[in-house]
Amino acid sequence: MPQLIAGNWKMHGLKAEAAALAQGVAAGAQGLGCELLVCPPALHVAAVAEILAGTPVAVGGQDCHQAEQGAHTGDVSAKMLRDVGASWVILGHSERRQNHGETDELIREKTQAAMAAGVTPIVCVGETAEQRAGGQETEVVGWQLAGSLPKPFDGVVAYEPVWAIGTGKTATEADVAQMHAFIREELVRQFGDAGMGIRILYGGSVKASNAAALLAVPHVGGALVGGASLKADEFLAIARAAKPD
Ligand code: PEP
Repeated sequence: MPQLIAGNWKMHGLKAEAAALAQGVAAGAQGLGCELLVCPPALHVAAVAEILAGTPVAVGGQDCHQAEQGAHTGDVSAKMLRDVGASWVILGHSERRQNHGETDELIREKTQAAMAAGVTPIVCVGETAEQRAGGQETEVVGWQLAGSLPKPFDGVVAYEPVWAIGTGKTATEADVAQMHAFIREELVRQFGDAGMGIRILYGGSVKASNAAALLAVPHVGGALVGGASLKADEFLAIARAAKPD
């Protein structure tokens, strides 16, 4: 399976900047040996999807509500994302877990809603610096996997240590190898053979200069990229570092 290189634009970019970034990514997206995905702010998903239609770059949301529709002021549903051209959605990002109080149970419901709408979920897990310092990283990630993934699960997992997000601190290749091997074991324990086929992305200060080393680690099925996805050249350089299928 090809590696997936996903860009999380977070809350960055006005309309014209989002369009320019999408065009820049599309311009270098031909002939890569990986899958490419960009996740703009919800307001820009439709316009970016129009720009990227017919290119190898897929579009995703950064969150969705667990219901299909209803009285949920300010939210968007997975069905709405799908309707405007998104085929992926990031769920349970640590910024949503921390800033919006999202629990594993809620993330599981959102994941189910995404799958029901035909939108592939990327479910994020990862420990905080304190949890790692206390030697609890695998326990925390194990609980997050058990609580956030519905059965069956048709999606992707992203391991994003919270202390590595937006900090410039990258997990070492040894940390990534150990955690990805643990996640693979947990996925197989939860889903049997199907757990072998679930891609596990690494996320946390991935950039062009460290991408090749991180993407070469066993059980790393791609990267979830924040800051470095806001520059088309840097994002494409990460994509070129992906392992060929
Ligand atoms: C992210 O927010 O998913 C992320 C990995 O951010 P950054 O690459 O900026 O650390």
